[in-house]
Amino acid sequence: MQPNTHLQQLDGNYLFTEIVRRTEAYRQANPDKQILRLGVGDVTRPLPQPIVEAMLRAVEEMGQTDTFRGYGLENGYAWLREAIIENDYRPRGVTLDIKEVFISDGAGSDIGNLGELFAASNRVAIPEPAYPAYVDSSLMAGRPIEFLPCTAENGFVPSLPEQRADIIYLCYPNNPTGSVLTRGQLAEWVNYARAHQSIIIYDAAYEAFIQDPDIPHSIYEIEGAKEVAIEVRSFSKTAGFTGVRCGYTVVPIETGLQAMWLRRQCTKYNGTSYISQRGALAAYTPEGKAAIRANIAYYQGTAQLLLNGLRALGYEVSGGVNAPYIWCRVPKGYDSWSFFEYLLHTCQVVCTPGAGFGPSGEGYIRFSAFSDRHDCEMALERMKNIG
Ligand code: PLP
Repeated sequence: MQPNTHLQQLDGNYLFTEIVRRTEAYRQANPDKQILRLGVGDVTRPLPQPIVEAMLRAVEEMGQTDTFRGYGLENGYAWLREAIIENDYRPRGVTLDIKEVFISDGAGSDIGNLGELFAASNRVAIPEPAYPAYVDSSLMAGRPIEFLPCTAENGFVPSLPEQRADIIYLCYPNNPTGSVLTRGQLAEWVNYARAHQSIIIYDAAYEAFIQDPDIPHSIYEIEGAKEVAIEVRSFSKTAGFTGVRCGYTVVPIETGLQAMWLRRQCTKYNGTSYISQRGALAAYTPEGKAAIRANIAYYQGTAQLLLNGLRALGYEVSGGVNAPYIWCRVPKGYDSWSFFEYLLHTCQVVCTPGAGFGPSGEGYIRFSAFSDRHDCEMALERMKNIG
């Protein structure tokens, strides 16, 4: 056996594992201190009731002979794929064939697995700082990567690659910077991909947080994007599915990859749980939609609180309007990890060090609007007291 040596190039510790390790060490040394977790991007609101009820009904069905279901289709039940097309795409002027929608167990798996569609020699372009899965899965496949820095100077919007890129990962609304692309900016990427026969893997996990009516929710709102883009979405942050697991990926026929992806999924994926898919379908009922809107509005309120609060304390902050993440520059004299340690030790506040998302994240920390509202208020109060 020869191991896949590409895996040895990955950082020893996954970012969030390292945060947990340091926070835990502090907690054990200071058991009387109340720690406020403002860092991790997991949702905190429970599942909306209409979704819970739909899943309970699905469990009941699974316990009855005449309604029991075994394996479903590898690409998901038609009723969920139709609901996705009707609710998430048609109102935005995007027409999809049901064959182009693939239900998954979440965006994370698909982001990692989609790389199997492409030759190992393909060059990858990744804006950074970035959600770690794009870099990690490209490294695991041994692909050369060009990083595209996103800094305050370019408004956290990456420039086009200098060398021709075969695969481009874009994530908007962005994790971790909270930035978004305008229609014109996104069109530049689509035009680049069409001119260079590249493929864009567009991670729209946070599209539900967009408030500005001029910001595109789907890359397919841009003309020609169906030729060059795969879009990945998730019920995780929208409907509270981080622990349930359901998402979907659109692989348009025009990309020439739809049949390949179906073939790959048929071998390696035996379908998303019937119960999860029934829960996801309930997200599209009037009651489900209302409950989800209320949850998102709650998180948006927390984002606003953090944004205003940090700004009032003199921090340079961005994001947090069309995204659940607030990107905050650390004070002079600190780097990401030393300021993480400083906040942990002086205020017992846990943030996410920006350097963990890539070199351009150095000098920043990320706050998450999925944090408990009361914890955010306390954190701002403590940060005010340290000056
Ligand atoms: N994409 C981005 C940008 C994310 O931040 C996350 C999770 O935090 C994911 C994908 C993964 O989502 P899922 O829970 O659907 O796997």
